[in-house]
Amino acid sequence: MRKSPSDLLIPIQILGEGKKSFSFQESVVAFPVLAEMEERGEGVFVSPVEIHIDLWRADDIYCGEGTAATQAELICGRCLEKFLFPLKVEFTLAFSRFSVDKEDQSGAEERELAEEDVSLIPFAGDELDLREAVQDQLLMALPVRPLCREECLGLCPVCGADRNRESCGCPETAVNPKWAALAGLRIEDQENKES
Ligand SMILES: [Zn+2]
Ligand SMILES: [Zn+2]
Repeated sequence: MRKSPSDLLIPIQILGEGKKSFSFQESVVAFPVLAEMEERGEGVFVSPVEIHIDLWRADDIYCGEGTAATQAELICGRCLEKFLFPLKVEFTLAFSRFSVDKEDQSGAEERELAEEDVSLIPFAGDELDLREAVQDQLLMALPVRPLCREECLGLCPVCGADRNRESCGCPETAVNPKWAALAGLRIEDQENKES
């Protein structure tokens, strides 16, 4: 099955030993996993993904060196406020032709391991798919637990107040487990409302 045409599919025949520069501005819908994140309410990509990349061929390997950037609006894991996260990655890529050939099984396994070591991206046909490669880079740069800032004080586990804005005066220690559970519920409610 042929993938839908995209600017991010580069025909290898246009690549040579000299570096060739490409620039793209792609809507987030071009990146299925990022689009799914938006659907799940985990974040909103508020600007298109800007990609600048140099591509060239070195023997059997197609190499890439570039940057990708966008702005993501994420939800802080502590205070549940939305905040803007500038997502910018620098990356190098190396594509190697994926060959299903006559080698015996052990040889193939060995080669697979060797390819993993240098993170070669297998490709087939006559195009390099930058979409998935760039998407992987962006995903790796996203924080696992987003924080609006490192010092975010979060919500009070007792009364749910945003401790960045007010000091509710609740005792820091010895939280009654019953109240802690209710505070947890309240946090979940807010999350649902926001998504
Ligand atoms: Zn926060
Ligand atoms: Zn409180």
